Amino acid sequence: MTTPQPRAAVRRMKEYHPPLGGRDGLRLDFNENTFSCSPRVLEALAKISSAELTRYPERGPLEALVAQHLNVAPAETLLTNGVDEAIHVLCQAFLDAGDELLLPVPTYSMYEVYASSTEARIVTVQAGADFRFPLDALLAAITPATKVICIANPNSPTGSVVSREAILRILASAPHAIVLIDEAYFHFHGETVLDLIGRHPNLIVARTFSKAYGLAGLRLGALIAAEEQMQWLRRVISPYSVNSLALACLPAALTDSAYLDWYVEEVLAARREFAAALDELALPHWPSAANFILVNIGSQHAAFTAAMKTRNVLVRDRSSDPGCDGCVRITIGTREDTRAGIEALRESLAAINWKRDSEA
Ligand code: PMP
Repeated sequence: MTTPQPRAAVRRMKEYHPPLGGRDGLRLDFNENTFSCSPRVLEALAKISSAELTRYPERGPLEALVAQHLNVAPAETLLTNGVDEAIHVLCQAFLDAGDELLLPVPTYSMYEVYASSTEARIVTVQAGADFRFPLDALLAAITPATKVICIANPNSPTGSVVSREAILRILASAPHAIVLIDEAYFHFHGETVLDLIGRHPNLIVARTFSKAYGLAGLRLGALIAAEEQMQWLRRVISPYSVNSLALACLPAALTDSAYLDWYVEEVLAARREFAAALDELALPHWPSAANFILVNIGSQHAAFTAAMKTRNVLVRDRSSDPGCDGCVRITIGTREDTRAGIEALRESLAAINWKRDSEA
């Protein structure tokens, strides 16, 4: 007897299992806020009424609030169940058989995961030396079949950035393709292309509440795009994918800018301290504009990650990402948490008798 079979693309997909599994200890593995969300968000949560839970969520009014905050039109703003859902919706709306998704790599995994559930072909372009943005190679890889280009700025796992000039060149070179600029780590970088919405109908910008705002568990993200593109995304997305708890917390998160500013300042100060500690230990690493740093541990990367875990500090082994052999990504949080991370790092290097590969 034959059993039901999914689409061919789904059969070809690799399963994606983020390493969750309890995650007790100091979590420097998923680039979350290591401290907390704003206390005002917790107050809003405590005031949830039963009516808010019994009725279906209505995201329209909150989309208007986010639009106002970002200085764009409500019709250009779509709230999503995290940026991950936004990427999924984008792939479902735009990628067909014969289309190409163009990706500079290494980059965030979910672009490839969601694109691989469609019939589109995934074309990757390797970053240059020191993970520099591969602008020329990317421009050369644009074809009439290019339908979506996904660029994380700052990028993960590298923390590297792409300039506004480069983005403008890509937008102009691929007017037939959606160019997603994923600004999940915007707050730690401070540069945006949101102001280009309206002038470039092929630009889509993504933002999240999972990082600086400390609300990864609520699942709240936003896409900003010209209305012309947004209409297709609105057809595909579930009207209820952003739940009532997330919607109820959103105004508090947005208005407590003092909390957000404090946390971002903590991370920027901690990032400087962490980079200085890595320099002192002669551990190769790359400059980061995000709330994490990619460190090149070398061939002892697995032993290092395990040694950190023994010390209750979780970090993320990225050594299988393209061009990231031996690399481990470490989240930067508050100064206090980052100092604890540095301490564990020193102990772990000693415990595994770490040597540079060239000296081993
Ligand atoms: N984009 C990038 C570049 C990320 O690193 C992440 C989270 N790791 C996301 C998007 C997903 O964010 P969200 O929690 O909003 O789905």
